[in-house]
Amino acid sequence: MNLVLMGLPGAGKGTQAERIVEKYNIPHISTGDMFRAAMKEGTELGLKAKSFMDQGQLVPDEVTIGIVRERLEKEDCKNGFLLDGFPRTVPQADALEQILEDLGRKIDYVINVKVDQSILMERLTGRRICKDCGATYHLVFNPPSEEGKCDKCGGELYQRADDNEETVGNRLEVNVKQSKPLLDFYKSKGYLQNIDGQQPIGNVFNDIDKLLGGRV
Ligand code: AMP
Repeated sequence: MNLVLMGLPGAGKGTQAERIVEKYNIPHISTGDMFRAAMKEGTELGLKAKSFMDQGQLVPDEVTIGIVRERLEKEDCKNGFLLDGFPRTVPQADALEQILEDLGRKIDYVINVKVDQSILMERLTGRRICKDCGATYHLVFNPPSEEGKCDKCGGELYQRADDNEETVGNRLEVNVKQSKPLLDFYKSKGYLQNIDGQQPIGNVFNDIDKLLGGRV
């Protein structure tokens, strides 16, 4: 199963990714995670990526495409993979087609978890995170038992600097602009599958599972 997962920030992509890779036993390939790991280890790749990531810009295509090619050539991708955060540009999508062709493979589905922008705004601005253990809450949808305090460890809850209304608005706009040409690209290829992300988490996964069902 060769999959690409797409969705705007707050659409629940991370949660669905965890469930998909567990059930279908395929590696979760997140370029953001790969860059963060490389930065932590202080590798050459990490140094290259850092200046772009720190400014919230995309890492240049040639760097990003190179690491994805290397990763997809690894043994554990033989039975499939779930790409998350890649491709982010049409040249990356073109490169992915080429990489897969070289490997004698093709994408099965591009899963787009769809949620209205107004709902994403509410989801992201209401998000609160524990300073100590990183657990996430939502003021309305998943509040802690005691206001401002983590249920798991008692730590103090805070709001991410980029989760305020103005920044969230900008992040969403930038993401919509970036993803539109990609969604068009995959629609024209017939890979695109829209999944309703406005349902409870389990139902979203059931819809994905139904789409993928029996094709492990
Ligand atoms: P993410 O965790 O997916 O939000 O990615 C965090 C950061 O990593 C992004 O803001 C970019 O700087 C970089 N990054 C991740 N994936 C890509 C990609 N496909 N192309 C370019 N830069 C990327």
